[in-house]
Amino acid sequence: MGPLVKLLSDLIAIPSVNPALAPADDSHTGEEPVTAFLESRARAAGLECRRSTVLPGRDNLLVRLRPRRPPRKTILLAPHLDTVGGLELPGDLFTPVVNNGRLFGRGACDTKGSVAAMFSALLAVARDQPPAETEIVFAGLVDEECGQLGSRKLAGDGFKADLAVVGEPTLLNVVTAHKGVLWLRLTTTGKAAHGARPELGRNAVHAMAKIVDLLETKYAAQLRRRKHPLLGRATINVGAISGGTQPNIVPSQCTISIDRRTLPGERDAVICKDIRALLKSKRLPAEFDSLQAGPCVPLETSPRLPLVAQFMAVAGQRKPKGVDYFSDAALLAAGGIPSVLFGPGDIAQAHTPDEWISIESLERAEGLLIRFLRSLP
Ligand SMILES: [Zn+2]
Repeated sequence: MGPLVKLLSDLIAIPSVNPALAPADDSHTGEEPVTAFLESRARAAGLECRRSTVLPGRDNLLVRLRPRRPPRKTILLAPHLDTVGGLELPGDLFTPVVNNGRLFGRGACDTKGSVAAMFSALLAVARDQPPAETEIVFAGLVDEECGQLGSRKLAGDGFKADLAVVGEPTLLNVVTAHKGVLWLRLTTTGKAAHGARPELGRNAVHAMAKIVDLLETKYAAQLRRRKHPLLGRATINVGAISGGTQPNIVPSQCTISIDRRTLPGERDAVICKDIRALLKSKRLPAEFDSLQAGPCVPLETSPRLPLVAQFMAVAGQRKPKGVDYFSDAALLAAGGIPSVLFGPGDIAQAHTPDEWISIESLERAEGLLIRFLRSLP
């Protein structure tokens, strides 16, 4: 087993399940053991480390490689350290297994593969020769899988860089765009009555059924009219519904949760206004609440920015790429740092019961990152 595969195996063997995705008493949760592991490795390599507390016991880790002369540019390598759970699944996801060119385990592709490739690329560049005038900062971020509080904190603290490379399994593509997400809860209110005299009540479930139908047909069709060249169309999904209590009571309340994927140029406030207007036109009143810790805006970074173009050239990629899923990159970009996604592995294997990464992809990611970092002035 080479040092890179060993590093990823070590990272998988240190569980760091996002605490929001597991029971409170679960011992596999929290990023701290992974943060401490990387910090001690970085210090042993003579690199500067700094922590930034995001939540109690949950720190972003910043590892800095100073250039040989005063810095003129900063490159940020920013993978997240948390993973989804999976303790309820058969088999042990936290014992790494190598089989047939693949490394299996929770986080293998999302996103400890990127952590390993980026961290070891940084160490390799530090070992031979740091860039002359470009500072490289590795940021291990917490909480990507839930509220993205790690990247929100880094951006909110005013951290500045000329390019952030956010680690996600992009199949080694440099990804410059992804959709945003808007999670809404809609509530209809009716009037309870005995089930034998429904004419005395107002059925909140029936009202919601009309809203669901409207959103999934007329509204969804509206969204299909516009297409983004990298991201395709905006979408809506009514993902959950609950209302009423039992058959013999006219339900007085019903709620749905909506997942709306947004395109660059769309604004959450305008989307809410449009949905409200649509419901109003059909005389279907509903209350709106947000289900998010903060806005999750779309990402659209210009592939013509010199550092992005340089990274794409090193990756041998002619055209920019987009992905469907949301990431920390959008939040760093919203904070003023031009951001792209890049990493080994395929998002298709993320969050699955047999998550794996191709070892070849992992090694190519490291090699590509080293080439890019060495190409910097
Ligand atoms: Zn991820």
